[in-house]
Amino acid sequence: MKVLVVGGAGYIGSHMVKRLGQLGCTVTTLDNLSSGHADAVLAGELVVGDIADTALLHSLFERGRFDAVMHFASFIQVGESVQHPAKYYENNVTNTLNLLNAMKAFGVLRFIFSSTAATFGEPQYSPIDEAHPQRPINPYGRTKLMVEQALADYDTAYGLKSVCLRYFNAAGADPEGQLGERHDPETHLIPLVLQAASGRRPNISVFGTDYDTPDGTCIRDYIHIADLCEAHWLALQSLVAGQDSQAYNLGNGNGFSVQEVIDAAGRVTGRPIPVQYGARRAGDPARLVADSRNAREKLGWQPQFPDLETIIGHAWQFEEKCRAGRG
Ligand code: UDP
Repeated sequence: MKVLVVGGAGYIGSHMVKRLGQLGCTVTTLDNLSSGHADAVLAGELVVGDIADTALLHSLFERGRFDAVMHFASFIQVGESVQHPAKYYENNVTNTLNLLNAMKAFGVLRFIFSSTAATFGEPQYSPIDEAHPQRPINPYGRTKLMVEQALADYDTAYGLKSVCLRYFNAAGADPEGQLGERHDPETHLIPLVLQAASGRRPNISVFGTDYDTPDGTCIRDYIHIADLCEAHWLALQSLVAGQDSQAYNLGNGNGFSVQEVIDAAGRVTGRPIPVQYGARRAGDPARLVADSRNAREKLGWQPQFPDLETIIGHAWQFEEKCRAGRG
């Protein structure tokens, strides 16, 4: 199978590229390296370029005959999306439509889309299943929902089949230690906690201690990157088998508070983790936990690494590698 992975040099994309290579696929990564790393592309060819570049897309599809496209290239910071919505609408919506239009023009009609729990907005019940209303509360969530809606229309009109995978909190790292999370700046909880443990940063700031949760800190559903990738592969298989377009929520169904993550990281690393307790971050719901029964039942998805300490352990293995200057 020939797969074009857009954003394959980024955190989730690079793990996917490695997995597709192991599965025997011919992989081409298209990445503008705005936040990805060329040395994270461990399988197939890397084309450095942008999905805004229609001529480049056409030349890729002309020579490629891809069976499917997986799209990981987007901006993902909620706060930044509030301050710079133009950047988000342009890249996450306009450029994604450019990609879809090129696919349509060349008859590439299978698409796996990285969506997000942020499309749901403030939870009305928990855990969140696919029937939960989608009312995003920030531009980031809106850009992802707009693409979900466009995909439904592209299916009806053009037969472009897609699976939207709504990630809760992607976390962890390649169990074999080759890949991990390298955002710059880093904003995600687990790598920040581990950088505080390793001494790469002075402490971890906890955003809010007055939430309506048992210990007052926010609860999230952390899902191992390898389990996420497996869901993408199963989603692609479902389209190849002729199944209809779908959207799935992806999480473990277990919520952990920020404090529980810090405590678990202390156990995994055996190091003290300096903590600074601070104010809430705007736009953070108290609790986001996925109901992923649909993915399990319809895709046969079975997370292999649901345990929080395992997720943190793999991320720690990568953090130690980075600290030693080999990341
Ligand atoms: N968080 C925190 N300190 C940080 C970064 C994150 O307390 O430096 C909290 C954040 O408020 C949220 C949880 O950790 O409750 C997970 O945040 P992250 O940014 O990793 O993912 P998000 O839930 O925003 O997708």
